[in-house]
Parts: sequence; C-alpha cells; structure tokens
Amino acid sequence: MLHLAIIGSGPAGYYTAEAALKRWGEEVHVDIFDLQPVPFGLIRSGVAPDHQSIKGVAKRYDAVAQAPNVRFIGKVAVGRDVSIAELQELYDAVVLATGAPSDRALGIPGEDLGNVFGSAAFVGWYNGHPHFADLAPDFAGAHAVVIGNGNVALDIARILAKVPQEFEGADIVAHALDALKGSGIASVTILGRRGPHQIAMTPKELGELGSLERARPRVDPADLPPEVEDAALDPGMRKSIQHLRAFAADTPSDKPFTIDFDFFAAPRALIGDGSVRKVEVERTALVEGRAVGTGETYQVPADLVIAAIGYRTNPIEGVPYDTAAGRFANEEGRILPGLYCVGWARRGPSGTIGTNRPDGFAIVDRIAEDFPAPGNKQGRVGFEALATARGVDFVTFRDWRKIDEAEVARARDGAPREKFVAFDQMLAAAGKH
Ligand SMILES: Cc1cc2nc3c(=O)[nH]c(=O)nc-3n(C[C@H](O)[C@H](O)[C@H](O)COP(=O)(O)OP(=O)(O)OC[C@H]3O[C@@H](n4cnc5c(N)ncnc54)[C@H](O)[C@@H]3O)c2cc1C
Repeated sequence: MLHLAIIGSGPAGYYTAEAALKRWGEEVHVDIFDLQPVPFGLIRSGVAPDHQSIKGVAKRYDAVAQAPNVRFIGKVAVGRDVSIAELQELYDAVVLATGAPSDRALGIPGEDLGNVFGSAAFVGWYNGHPHFADLAPDFAGAHAVVIGNGNVALDIARILAKVPQEFEGADIVAHALDALKGSGIASVTILGRRGPHQIAMTPKELGELGSLERARPRVDPADLPPEVEDAALDPGMRKSIQHLRAFAADTPSDKPFTIDFDFFAAPRALIGDGSVRKVEVERTALVEGRAVGTGETYQVPADLVIAAIGYRTNPIEGVPYDTAAGRFANEEGRILPGLYCVGWARRGPSGTIGTNRPDGFAIVDRIAEDFPAPGNKQGRVGFEALATARGVDFVTFRDWRKIDEAEVARARDGAPREKFVAFDQMLAAAGKH
C-alpha cells in the first residue's frame, strides 16, 4: 500500500488524487489535507461568484473525494498543526498543492494606506474566505483603480460595476452584496503597464464588460496598435483585442458607470490622507516588450485601490523556497526525496483550472518512478494517532457535506448557496461544536 498525503484541496490536489487512483487503484491511500474546513481551494474562494458554470467543475472532484481510499482532512494547516517532517514520517510521498494564496506587494510608496487591497484579499472577501471576511472595503468614494491586466482585474472591475440584480444566481456572500448595494463607486480605471497586445485577459471575460447593465468599458483608440498587427496574434488573443477595439469605438452611451482601460500606465505611488485618494502614474513605452517609464506622470483619482498583480505561495518550514519566483524550489515538481509540489505551488499563479490536471498526472508519474515499491509507512492511521495526541480535531468529507447542505439550505432566493464565512459557523453546521 502506498500512502500519499496531498496538502491542499484545490484543483491541483484533486487532480493529483485522481491520477493516483488511476495509477494505483486500491493500492493507494490518499489523504487530502486543507487548512480550511471546506474543500476546493480557489474554485470556492477565487473563481468569480457570478461564474457558476466554472465553479461547477468541483462536482467532478466529488467522484474522487468519495472513493473509499481517498479522505479529506480539513481544518489542518500543514506547517502549523502538523509539520512536513512529521508527514514524511507517516506517508511515502507528500505532495504540496497549497496554491499561491498571498498577494504580491506593489512595492511603491503609499501601499499601506487605507482602502488599498491585494486581489487575494479582496476576492477572498467577496467570495467568503474566512481569512478575509473582515476586510471591510469602503465604497463611499466614487473612484476605484484596479492595477493589473489579467482576468482577475476584470473579475474585480465587473463585480464593482454590477447592479444587485446582476448577481442573481451568484454565490457572492451577503456581506459583500450588502456593501456593494450601497456603493458610491462610479468609475473603475484598470491600469496596465504595457499595451493591449500584452494583456492576459481572455475573450469571454472581456466580452462580459460590454454587456453590463449600467457600466460601459472605454479604451483610448490611440493605445491600440494598427489593426494589421492583430494578424500575428493567436486566435484567442485576437478575439480579446477585437473586444478592446469595440470598446474604443466611440458609440454614445448613457450608462453612468465607466470602466476605463489605461494602458502604458505604471503606478508609481499611492497618495492619500490615511485612506488612498489618488494614484500617481507614469506613462510608459514598450521597449523590446518591456514597459519603460517615459518620465511623463499624471494622477488618477482613487478612493479604492485593488492590486491584481499576482500571487505568492506561502513558505512552509523545512521546504526549500524560491523567493524570486514566489513558489517552492522544485525540479519538475520534485522538491526533496518524497516531497513534491503541483499546481500553483509548483508553477506559480498561471493557467486555468484545467492546466492543473496534466500537472497532477505528471507528478504521479514522478512519484511512481521514485517509489517502485512503497515503504512501510503508517499513513492515515498514524496521522489519526498524532492528531488525537495533539488535540487536532479535523473535518471529514462527510462533515463538509453537512456544511454544503446547510449553505444550500440558507441561500437567498435565486442563489445556489449562502456560504459560511467563519470557521466556527462551518464547524457548527458540521455538528462539530
Ligand atoms: C480570483 C481568481 C479567479 C480565477 N478564476 C478562474 C476561472 O474563472 N477559470 C479558471 O480556469 N481558472 C481561474 N482561476 C485560476 C484557478 O483558480 C487556479 O488555476 C487553481 O485554483 C490553482 O489550483 P491549486 O490547487 O494549485 O491552488 P488553490 O486552488 O489555491 O488550492 C490550494 C489549497 O491549498 C490549501 N492550503 C494552502 N496552504 C495550506 C497549508 N499550509 N496547509 C493545508 N492546506 C493549505 C488552501 O486552503 C487551498 O484550498 C482563478 C484564480 C483566481 C485567483
């Protein structure tokens, strides 16, 4: 019997478990740990609440989760409740699928002003991640600035721009919906250091901005490269640029909420009086694909700033870490003998949910190469003994089912669920307290 511990129950964790079941069948025991009492990582707490069809992928993980030799061990933070060294004693292989849950710093003056958030925190807040439930962003001002030119920036701009009716069918949590109902925000500026051809925004997400009830996206036609240059782009990117070209066409609109794409715009400082009020921006030019400051500066009004500029994996004691890359130091997923990483913890924060599937299968191939015959490890029995001795009470997949049912039962009309946003609420729903 091979005993496999997977740390993190997001897509990378579940795809790795699926791959392990495919390869070893009944000859493997898989324990999937998560620091949250609820599974699925960013499917639950990252993917936008108004993108339910994407969140539906979690249903596919159920089949894996319910295999008799796969177990969910929730509310156990590896590195805090149990160490990597302890898990390596108990399991043949330990796979870190811990994602990249921390915001990268902007590294500019004023970053610590009030109402300035990273996207992990802000998205976590509207998606009900217990770590960010108390964020309390202030929507009293009129102007928001979102820094970054990826899909997360688009998610945030869209969420800020929507009217309450546009959240029908979404699982945005009540505290966020209530706060947004009273929002005074009337403009979002999306700052990108480079130009339209350098965006990391996909056509679907861009297209959505064109059909919002009260908001209109705007692009300065002067920022767009000559149309002939679009021919060299891959088809997806070409579609994205077509959306930007449509936003640049000067069609009259009485929609009061503006979403402005400000390209070639590098934030240099956040300015405010306790709370942020403006962003100091330097105009850039592209030099060999890099954004280089031109010396021309200007200010953008900003009562709320959200930086969507990427994420970092959290270090864990005893695990080599690549500080520059913000993820575990690894060679194709191998960290140390018996210790592996997968998903965002291996590659950094890029790609779609599906990108993590081949990653999971590849790491299982590597484990198979390294462990032609499993050792004599204790696996879950050993972990249970350790948890009992240490007083670590964990959550099972059956407990999660109870939490899930309770969330569905308390959903507001038209919503798929109303998430619990605190661990103790989740545990109470699971009948644990
Ligand atoms: C805002 C946002 C929106 C996105 N929207 C989309 C989308 O619409 N479509 C799409 O295809 N992709 C989307 N993505 C990308 C997608 O979510 C990722 O590709 C995917 O979630 C990465 O999977 P992962 O398993 O590596 O990490 P995660 O999903 O982050 O899972 C990591 C898990 O590890 C757990 N964990 C972390 N540290 C520990 C620890 N020490 N001990 C125990 N557990 C721990 C976490 O609680 C978490 O459950 C989005 C990402 C973000 C940030």
